[in-house]
Amino acid sequence: MERGGVRVGRRVPSGMLERREFLRTGLGAGAALWPAGAGVSGALAAARGAGGAEGPARNVIFMVADGMSTGTLTLGDMMSHALHGRASAWVDLWVRPGVRRAACATYSADSMVTDSAASASAWGIGEKINNEVVNITPDGREPEPLWVRARRAGKATGLVTTTRVTHATPAGFIANIPHRNLEDGIAEQIVTRGVDVVLGGGSAHFPESLIGGRPGLEVVRNRGELLGLAPGPLPADGRVLGLFTRKHMHHEVDLEVDEPSLLEMTRAALSMLSESPGGFALMVEGGRVDHGAHENDAAAMLFDQLAFDAALGAAAEFAHQRDDTLLIVTTDHGTANPGLTFYGASGLRAFERCTKLKRSFEWVGAQLSAEGSMDAKRRRLGAVVEEATGVGLSADEQAHVLASMEGRAVDPFLSANGSLLVLGSVLANHLGIAFASPNHTSDFVEVTALGPGSEMLPPMIELTHLHRMVVAALGLPAV
Ligand SMILES: [Zn+2]
Repeated sequence: MERGGVRVGRRVPSGMLERREFLRTGLGAGAALWPAGAGVSGALAAARGAGGAEGPARNVIFMVADGMSTGTLTLGDMMSHALHGRASAWVDLWVRPGVRRAACATYSADSMVTDSAASASAWGIGEKINNEVVNITPDGREPEPLWVRARRAGKATGLVTTTRVTHATPAGFIANIPHRNLEDGIAEQIVTRGVDVVLGGGSAHFPESLIGGRPGLEVVRNRGELLGLAPGPLPADGRVLGLFTRKHMHHEVDLEVDEPSLLEMTRAALSMLSESPGGFALMVEGGRVDHGAHENDAAAMLFDQLAFDAALGAAAEFAHQRDDTLLIVTTDHGTANPGLTFYGASGLRAFERCTKLKRSFEWVGAQLSAEGSMDAKRRRLGAVVEEATGVGLSADEQAHVLASMEGRAVDPFLSANGSLLVLGSVLANHLGIAFASPNHTSDFVEVTALGPGSEMLPPMIELTHLHRMVVAALGLPAV
């Protein structure tokens, strides 16, 4: 089948040999540590010549629930049952024929506990690098990131996230930069290297001097403008940059009316990219599941996980309706390892409260900040928390939070101090959801894949394997 000069559709049976070779040489015999590098996929692409992408998959959708401990995935599924009467889209995939799953180790080159930049870079260039760096190796090399390679091979590309679009995870697919915090530089690389659809927050990093006067670059600023473009194809010879907030977008529980949901952004991106004659490569991130977990904020985390799951449902439906799209859904590391910890009827009651949470800790913090004096905060704390969570804190619980807000360490686990972290701890008495820490964890994480190329997912992998899998699935030429 010909589309725009690129042959697409399932590969002929000889492709199976190549895939077996990939599995044999790329993965070893189940060892935890595999050699880095893209040698096999590079050889695969070189054997096909450098003229355009040709792999088993025409499209790739790469979905990331950032900082999603396995406990968060479980809680998201429980929320889906409680609120929608059905399994989450993610868990629903597990029972579908042909779907493959893996456990993934996430450590970086210099840390057992990774950060998002090193993890996204493992996907971006297929190598372990140091925390906080974006796609620059410890010995100073700057391999071309995955979406740059995909675009050169004729794929339309997309980055969708609920964080600033210059945040570590989207950066890992497009940028090379010495530190993740250099977000003005990441913005410049997004614009100059070219991504066809970019949707999320972070307009503060895209001044007029960067985006003004660029032919074909259409900038949209709110939900209405986005929904005015999609469903529909990309503008001819055009790109779409949707920047809906100055910084991160709001958590799902606080979403404002002029912000699109992650589901709406995902549908819009799929609609625009699916018309691409050469296929597409799209990354979709529920970027703030991680932030909710960092804050030990059950409301922010659970409802952002549900919002991600809705976007996954749309992506899975897209992939199921055709036979040419590889869908990978995963996370870059655990964060805070939450879980429901109450037994029996008290667990049921506590979880029911979780389904009725209304506001994030960000919102609570903003309300209290607006009060100004510490005395005013002291008076308002109980009412603000009750409005956000439906939970009436006891006097002792409020005293713990207030002491922490005044800078005193009230939790013997020193990392778990900080005003809103202590609020997470006292709310665990009512919501049943306890957190291990405010930080990332070294846990294995879940990977689920379906569609052409998903057969390259063995049961135990490292993050770098997903880079090689995407390269091979799209048949990207060697660099
Ligand atoms: Zn992360």
